Amino acid sequence: MSKSSMPKNELSKMPWLLPEAGFTLKSAIPKAILFYGREGIGKFLMAKSLAKKILCPYSSNFETSCDECKDCHMVKINVHPDLIILPNQFGDGSKINVEDIRGLQNFATKSSHRGKSKMVILNKVDQLGHHAGNAVLKLLEEDQTNTFYFLIAEKLSEVIPTIRSRCLKSNIKQPSKEVALKWLSENTRHSTDILLNSLAISGFAPLKAKDLLDNKEFWDDRTSLLRAMTDHDDLDGFLAISERMEPSLVANILLMLAYDILLYQSIGQIRYNSDYERFISNISKTAIRKTLFEWYSSIIVYSKQASHGLNNRLALEALFLSSPI
Ligand SMILES: [Zn+2]
Repeated sequence: MSKSSMPKNELSKMPWLLPEAGFTLKSAIPKAILFYGREGIGKFLMAKSLAKKILCPYSSNFETSCDECKDCHMVKINVHPDLIILPNQFGDGSKINVEDIRGLQNFATKSSHRGKSKMVILNKVDQLGHHAGNAVLKLLEEDQTNTFYFLIAEKLSEVIPTIRSRCLKSNIKQPSKEVALKWLSENTRHSTDILLNSLAISGFAPLKAKDLLDNKEFWDDRTSLLRAMTDHDDLDGFLAISERMEPSLVANILLMLAYDILLYQSIGQIRYNSDYERFISNISKTAIRKTLFEWYSSIIVYSKQASHGLNNRLALEALFLSSPI
């Protein structure tokens, strides 16, 4: 396969990942790499891209994968027999447990299905429990097979130090707002306003923002909730929508609204809800700053209590009635 006929690797479309992609080319790929950085910026894609380079029979010196062969395709859809990804269904709160790691010991000692190396991607290694953490450490220490381990974490400081010290550490850095916006505009079909909203809500993490843009339910809920908030007298309308939403989502949307009103009062700018500028500008003229701060604090209290089974309806009523809007 000639280089010119190769499709563009997905990483080449994510310029902020390229400097990191390059580090592996300088020498042999280390046995264990720990990719760390914020949620939603491409750590998992980075690990998968590297796995693809190692498993693709057409890669030369692990510099690139062809993105067309059977191995590349199987990696892409997470079914390659020489690649294990744990937890299987990350994103749903599941964690790696000790039985998972025992399964990995078997995987490591068996020969590779496709004749090349074997890969393991471990997500959320900053959330490993004590026993699973020890099992991972033992595996990294003792495995002498041709298996590579790619570990992924948001918070480096919360990865067990002995695991940390056995890995080459790769800090995946967040792109600038401009780069994130450019990437998002090339990969979605939304107006710049919506893209900026989504980026701001996602902490300017581009992949997280893209997932959020695809989440129609979130945007519908946000619209309904903000509409209910803008109608001062409609407590019933507010309760109807907010009671069927996750309390954490209600809290987040209200916190962003309160933050924007406070920010607008201070410097005339909006961070999260640029599509509600007129409303925010109007409120910021009349809302008393002290009341706004108190409301902001009570939303934080609500978000903390909501996970402890409080009377949600009463708490939502109190939030609505104490709002300075
Ligand atoms: Zn390939």
